[in-house]
Amino acid sequence: MADTDINNIRVAPNFLLREFACKDGSHQVVLHRELLERLQALRDMLSRPVIINSGYRNREHNQAVGGSPDSYHLRGMAADIRVPGMSPAALATAARQVGFRGIIIYSTFVHLDLGRGYSHQLK
Ligand SMILES: [Zn+2]
Repeated sequence: MADTDINNIRVAPNFLLREFACKDGSHQVVLHRELLERLQALRDMLSRPVIINSGYRNREHNQAVGGSPDSYHLRGMAADIRVPGMSPAALATAARQVGFRGIIIYSTFVHLDLGRGYSHQLK
């Protein structure tokens, strides 16, 4: 059995479950439906591939990558994404249009989450 078959399940027209799995090789994944629906809406609006750099993180992996101890990534409610050929600032603006409010712009990607406490912060 190939590892690539694990979580190889289409959960939305343009996303597979494995794209959201923890990147530590554990294949663990938690995914909030609202996060997925908004990402698909974003993908539909842009008509371009949306690359998930980081979706779900278990506690160990979150700590290893220096994530916040109460990160939305731990609950399947956040994704760090990029769209080839699109600046993080432009991507953040598009994300806002599909309802995201938890937005942090980094130099090469954008963090999106289901929170409402902040938006368009630069890190
Ligand atoms: Zn993030």
